[in-house]
Amino acid sequence: MFAAGDVAAAVADDAGHLGLQSCQFATPMGKAAGHNAAADLLGVPLVDFTPDPYVTCLDLGSAGAVFTTGWDRRVELDGKQGKELKATILDVIHPPLDDAEEILRQAGRQSNGVSG
Ligand SMILES: Cc1cc2nc3c(=O)[nH]c(=O)nc-3n(C[C@H](O)[C@H](O)[C@H](O)COP(=O)(O)OP(=O)(O)OC[C@H]3O[C@@H](n4cnc5c(N)ncnc54)[C@H](O)[C@@H]3O)c2cc1C
Repeated sequence: MFAAGDVAAAVADDAGHLGLQSCQFATPMGKAAGHNAAADLLGVPLVDFTPDPYVTCLDLGSAGAVFTTGWDRRVELDGKQGKELKATILDVIHPPLDDAEEILRQAGRQSNGVSG
């Protein structure tokens, strides 16, 4: 059985980090789960899922936003710069609808160990 997204949250990786109910997990998890469901049927190797890089971008309202990297959440951007990144993320996060070619093209940009 394969799962992705919020229903697969709270599963720990090898280092004990819990998956989170977030877009950054859900989207690449879906790609890995889909890959693995097909690979299982075809009898070819499965891929592991690793959020890489692990980041957090939290909107702070009028104070801007904070962007961190790594599980120890090193602050990379804050204030106005963080807010601009948050706006960019919100802009690109929505998947295209009813456009199989574009959906597959965008699937290739996910960094989760699954190529293409
Ligand atoms: C208000 C809010 C703000 C959030 N903000 C952020 C954020 O800033 N950053 C971030 O990373 N994450 C955020 N999240 C979390 C993020 O939205 C979820 O982690 C992510 O959407 C989970 O994806 P998913 O595919 O697992 O589930 P969903 O996106 O919930 O997709 C599940 C889909 O299944 C459908 N469905 C349910 N039951 C059935 C059924 N029986 N038959 C057919 N279809 C069904 C639903 O209608 C839905 O379309 C936010 C969530 C909320 C609620």
